[in-house]
Amino acid sequence: MGMVMSRNTIPLGRILGIPIGLDYSWFLIFALLTWSLAANYYPTEFKNWPSSEYWLVGAVTAILLFVSVLLHELGHSIVALQYKIPVRSITLFIFGGLAEIGAEPPGPTAEFWIALAGPIVSFALAIVFGILQPLLVPVSSLLALAKYLSYINGVLALFNLIPGFPLDGGRVFRAIVWGMTRSLHRATLIAATVGRFIAFLFIFLGVWQMVSGNFGNGLWIAFTGWFLESAASAQIRQQNIHDLLAGHRVSDAMRRDYATVGPEINLEQLVDELVFGGGRRSLVVKDKDRVVGLLTLHRIKAVPRPDWSNTTAAQVMIPVEKVKRIHPETELAEALSEMDRDGVNQLPVMVQDQIQGVLGRDDVISVLRTLNEFSHG
Ligand SMILES: [Zn+2]
Repeated sequence: MGMVMSRNTIPLGRILGIPIGLDYSWFLIFALLTWSLAANYYPTEFKNWPSSEYWLVGAVTAILLFVSVLLHELGHSIVALQYKIPVRSITLFIFGGLAEIGAEPPGPTAEFWIALAGPIVSFALAIVFGILQPLLVPVSSLLALAKYLSYINGVLALFNLIPGFPLDGGRVFRAIVWGMTRSLHRATLIAATVGRFIAFLFIFLGVWQMVSGNFGNGLWIAFTGWFLESAASAQIRQQNIHDLLAGHRVSDAMRRDYATVGPEINLEQLVDELVFGGGRRSLVVKDKDRVVGLLTLHRIKAVPRPDWSNTTAAQVMIPVEKVKRIHPETELAEALSEMDRDGVNQLPVMVQDQIQGVLGRDDVISVLRTLNEFSHG
């Protein structure tokens, strides 16, 4: 969780109303997996196929692995929806899949079942492909497919059950600690710390394998450990930020001295006067007293420089109806996760159609810095 459908994602449609996307990085895995199955794995297991068959079965296997990962993520999603938690998207990428669940689970029971649902689906797939095998003996390519998918779904289930937060097993563990301590905060810190410990075990084991002659395997294990370690550390950092910001609201951090421009000003003037002059990154576009839109540096940069003199603010601004906004009473931590989710660096603070200020990521960071100094005395 934590990734948004980005420009690197190819939309594949919707299942149960959830947009499904394919990250470009998936193609790398598809190519690598097809190649390693067709050139290595299948030829040693099943001899005497024509070489085109190895490639065909390899590619079909890679696609069915993709479907298996999708079903795993749908398992999480369906249970989340049962608990009335929105699922924003499912993205398939290099490390597998990611269901973007829209909120923290309401309680430990919900988290327990949402986390467990994915590995249950993978186990079920491993069993189904296992049961199919005796029936497929006459067709060796289908038998090969079922054998590999049974194995890989079993591996997926077991790997995800490793109790290293944020893996599924770590979430199950956090849910249990949460149920026992009644504190999501403590449960997150405990689960993430155990996650880091397990990650270090992976790194240690990987390096040990590398120096004892098993370089490729060891590298892969160490890399997985590094990935788990950074995910667990990020979780601890996020929890600390959350704790520091607790009780502080958007109105405590927002800038009230935001700059406004009229809709007819051209980009040339606007950049000269405001962006370079005042170091602003976003501007409020006002027509008389009414807010009509928001203009960000990002939008200006998208216009080729020669066109700046004949392009107006109104032509490039994000119209007010489309602007993501935030309420002054919203918790700062919530505002920060909203920025992360939408990949923006500032949000206009609005009550109905009245603008109260602009909250930038840097404003939140300077509040954090101050709070951090005080908390350390
Ligand atoms: Zn999962």
